[in-house]
Amino acid sequence: MSARTPVHDSILDAVGGTPLVELGGLLPSLGSRVFAKLESANPGGSVKDRSALSMLLGKIRAGELLPGRSTVVESSSGNLAIGIAQICRYYGIDFVCVVDPRTTRQNLAILRAYEVTVDLVTEPDPETGAYLPSRLARVRELVATTPGAYWPNQYRNPLNPRAHERTMREIDEALDGRVDYLFCSTGTGGTLRGCAQYIRDRGLATTVVGVDALGSVLFGGPPGPRLLPGHGAAVRPELFDPSAADEVVLVSDLECVVGCRTLTLREAILAGGSSGAVTAALGKLADRVPPGSTCVLVFPDRGDRYLDTIYDDDWVRRHFGDVEHLWKEQGHTMAVAAC
Ligand code: PMP
Repeated sequence: MSARTPVHDSILDAVGGTPLVELGGLLPSLGSRVFAKLESANPGGSVKDRSALSMLLGKIRAGELLPGRSTVVESSSGNLAIGIAQICRYYGIDFVCVVDPRTTRQNLAILRAYEVTVDLVTEPDPETGAYLPSRLARVRELVATTPGAYWPNQYRNPLNPRAHERTMREIDEALDGRVDYLFCSTGTGGTLRGCAQYIRDRGLATTVVGVDALGSVLFGGPPGPRLLPGHGAAVRPELFDPSAADEVVLVSDLECVVGCRTLTLREAILAGGSSGAVTAALGKLADRVPPGSTCVLVFPDRGDRYLDTIYDDDWVRRHFGDVEHLWKEQGHTMAVAAC
């Protein structure tokens, strides 16, 4: 570990370089070392700071996005929106963010604090019942009618995955190339694809595990109800590449909750839903991980954004019944198999 604390030119320069933390108490029976890449340490609080910066900074530096003349328009309910808000505020560029009714009050409050214009889509797509197609239709309408509009389009922009080649480089360098398993949750697929690209370019012998939500269509499963935002999708994005994953693990909402609560109890890490998902996925794959392996879990965001859901006992009881024993009374065996 470097003894020197880096000095950054600006808040945006502080994106990346997140800590890698060993999870010694999570699954001792695994006989392997497990590390978490804490993307919550990015200044906007999530892995999506990297994508936001990657998609916007080149255009800003090239003078293609200008204060008072340009407006960034994007569809996001959460972490990417906060990453973009931070950049647009810093440079004084307008940002219109298209959200839907599932966006949490807390995220809306954060966006308003950054003076983002929030544009609410109220009707889901009549065919699929999903909000994403309606949000994208609204973005197209705004881009067509707003002078100087720019749509980064996280669902198809190659600069989204490219940002995560650096995420994987940081992991690789910290562990001297010794990563046997990488667990990545999936939404746009940017993190998965970027990390996998780095691994392939370097010829690393890392097995990439794609972790998706049960009820998400990303790896070809049938659509179904999902409670937790962040990972999973009702429509497969254009840039999503299922072949970036060597293995796929599907995780239910309850398994995410158990993963998160276990992390808090065993590791004192208050993590977001998709961090619970990758933790649960490790538990589900544990039988196939040879002892002595090194496993890295990418933790995309922190638990503060889930205090009304995952960390609210009433919410958990309402949706899953009395399940506290799944994380409270277990020995050192992850309880996800019991969900
Ligand atoms: N977890 C969380 C909390 C997220 O916000 C996102 C992005 N929506 C993801 C996972 C998935 O990341 P990606 O878009 O890179 O697949």
